[in-house]
Amino acid sequence: MKISRRKFLKISSTAIGTVVASEAASLGLDAKAMTDKTAQIPMKSGKQVQSVCPYCAVGCAQIVTIDATGKIIDIQGNPDSPVNEGTLCPKGAAAYQLAVNDLRWTKVKYRAPGSDHWEDKPLDWAMKRIVDLVKNTRDANFNEYEEVPDGKGNMVRKRVMNTYAIATLGGATMDNEWNYVQQKLMHALGVVYVENQARI
Ligand code: SF4
Repeated sequence: MKISRRKFLKISSTAIGTVVASEAASLGLDAKAMTDKTAQIPMKSGKQVQSVCPYCAVGCAQIVTIDATGKIIDIQGNPDSPVNEGTLCPKGAAAYQLAVNDLRWTKVKYRAPGSDHWEDKPLDWAMKRIVDLVKNTRDANFNEYEEVPDGKGNMVRKRVMNTYAIATLGGATMDNEWNYVQQKLMHALGVVYVENQARI
């Protein structure tokens, strides 16, 4: 049976909605009343832009309201989304503070080896340092061949083209597209230790 993307999303969201409603009901919550109420929250006046919460892989839809100068004045859940139906968890509901926050650090913080204090550095400087460290570490620790078990109790020499000297740890806010590109980059470099915060 051929299912269109639209139909697949509809079936999935209905199934998820049923599970969420039944879980909420088991906790004594009325999920429908919750989403109905969310849909009634008045939007601030301005231009509304559809977006997605950056915090986790649930991918709740948001509506970002901006003023005439492009400044964000509000972020709230999108009632039209089958994923969150207008709701946002506390992290997503606080997304406004991620974008508009005088306390947010906008410079790279660097602490030199052995140092007891942090220094502000430009982003270009930090990017170059990361590139240099990755290149030098990989060059100094690259394994072209390795002795590996052959599954019959013997060790055989195989071409592996890898390095165990670099590891990468993804965060739960990374979306599928970012993860895809990062995996491609790390595997191209021969990095073996690829992990995500969600599994730790
Ligand atoms: S952090 Fe919360 S609001 Fe954001 S996508 Fe995840 S569950 Fe949704």
